[in-house]
Amino acid sequence: MSHVLAAVAWPYANGPRHIGHVSGFGVPSDVFSRYMRMAGHDVLMVSGTDEHGTPIQVQADKEGVTPRELADRYNRVIVEDLHGLGLSYDLFTRTTTGNHYAVVQQIFEGLYANGYIVPKVAMGAISPSTGRTLPDRYIEGTCPICGYDGARGDQCDNCGNQLDPVDLINPRSKINGETPKFVETEHFFLDLPAFAQALGKWLDTREGWRTNVLRFSKNLLDDLQPRAITRDLEWGVPIPLDGWRDRGDKRIYVWFDAVIGYLSASIEWARRSGDSDAWRRWWAADGEGRDARGYYFMGKDNIVFHSVIWPALLLGYSGEGDRDGNPGELGRLNLPTEVVSSEFLTMEGRKFSSSRQVVIYVRDFLARYDADALRYFIAVAGPESNDTDFTWAEFLRRNNDELVAGWGNLVNRSISLAAKNFGAVPPVDPAGLTPADEALLATARAGFDTVGDLIGRHRQKQAIGEAMRVVAEANRYLSDQAPWKLKGDDDKPRMGTILHVALQVVSDANTLLTPFLPHSAQKVHELLGGTGVHAPMPSIVEVEDLDGGPAYPVLTGDYTVGTRWESVPLPVGRPLAVPKPVFRKLDPSIVDEELDRLGGNE
Ligand SMILES: [Zn+2]
Repeated sequence: MSHVLAAVAWPYANGPRHIGHVSGFGVPSDVFSRYMRMAGHDVLMVSGTDEHGTPIQVQADKEGVTPRELADRYNRVIVEDLHGLGLSYDLFTRTTTGNHYAVVQQIFEGLYANGYIVPKVAMGAISPSTGRTLPDRYIEGTCPICGYDGARGDQCDNCGNQLDPVDLINPRSKINGETPKFVETEHFFLDLPAFAQALGKWLDTREGWRTNVLRFSKNLLDDLQPRAITRDLEWGVPIPLDGWRDRGDKRIYVWFDAVIGYLSASIEWARRSGDSDAWRRWWAADGEGRDARGYYFMGKDNIVFHSVIWPALLLGYSGEGDRDGNPGELGRLNLPTEVVSSEFLTMEGRKFSSSRQVVIYVRDFLARYDADALRYFIAVAGPESNDTDFTWAEFLRRNNDELVAGWGNLVNRSISLAAKNFGAVPPVDPAGLTPADEALLATARAGFDTVGDLIGRHRQKQAIGEAMRVVAEANRYLSDQAPWKLKGDDDKPRMGTILHVALQVVSDANTLLTPFLPHSAQKVHELLGGTGVHAPMPSIVEVEDLDGGPAYPVLTGDYTVGTRWESVPLPVGRPLAVPKPVFRKLDPSIVDEELDRLGGNE
């Protein structure tokens, strides 16, 4: 057993989740965490909503609410979306907690003490008519990178690059249209070049990463620049230095605080668990966390933050960049073991776009379909290592032909036949098992190694393919053996044997599919006469801020219960009832209905 950190990218709290958001890393990180727990590891799965930064301030300004009110709204919405999918976070929290502020400031202080955060004079905008600071978000102009005319001072929404307002072409104030005046202003920068060597050494020791992620990350090291970590903005974590702490117009930049969330959420989880040092088992590089492994899940647009910037912060805090230094109060901290990046999901051939209604929100999806139907689609056809298109026709086909006609059918006919003819799990005939019986049982048992190994290496598509291969072989076995024909008194013992084998394989396949399909796995467990929790589920809990702020909802759960990753013999004689179908067959008319809901062509 080992300690495994599952660190899942933080959704930005400016809207509900759509299925593109959860396909790349949301559901896959849950599959991984569930499997690792079933295999006996001590998993800590953390994330939360990322709530600072200009976009939330801008949207709040537009709606006439405070950024905190906007963040409160979407934090709750996102918690509900993720809960609906059954994502088993140990803690899904947020970045506006007192705990997060304290940890961010602690990391800042550690980096500053070691000399990796340096003040630098940069050019900042002021309004010529009022003489006041003009925050980045109130400046727009032409993007110097892509030429888009509506770029904001801090970011271009067209090409996605982070910008500096002074680099905008034809900058203008969004408040009154005047041309801002740029004057010298002091900001803090992270000295990224001081980590080039340490990062290079670390990346050279990484094993098992997707090659594109490793290559991309190493290339970034050739051109590391100092990076601003403070901003002219009122919404964010205050800068923990004398003379800066109380300044209302300068805050820590959102990217700096958000990546620290993995650590702060682990610390919050520990504080809530009653053992405030428990987080060290996943993080303390010189202590209990020495052998822990950390897996970071994100979309490909976020690789740089996880393979370069977050490791640089951890190295600097631990005193391991070019300037050396001493570990801060939290001690030396573990770097990521693996950065697992996913590709993008498109929707009927187009990019997801909330404004153009090329979108399907998780909550709307779950209002009409089951969570496991989406989880199945993501597992077999998600954007694991290629950009992938979601189409309703393909969703319908996967659901009806594979989930319902494949797995659902196997469950249904095995349990129905046994219930009708025996009322219980039948015994194996004293004549024993045939080679066909033995072969099928062996195939199912072998699945525990192959499927588990594939999930452990983030090859979930192949993994569920192997699990479904067991299902297909079991269906073929039933068709070949045709137990429904063996109704005579002489034949009935053989019928019992076949159904015993089939039920055992249903039980094994159900365990193999549990990380992917936890809701239906619980149902199948119960149809097989099992009791208790088979696949634990998260709950939404309203909690007090540990440091005196307002209360908020978190996602958490007890995942120490549940089935282990192994074949468990079904007890002979356990009563069985005729089951209701576990999966819903969908009518083909849903395809046109759903396409009508989507926005028209651009
Ligand atoms: Zn641009």
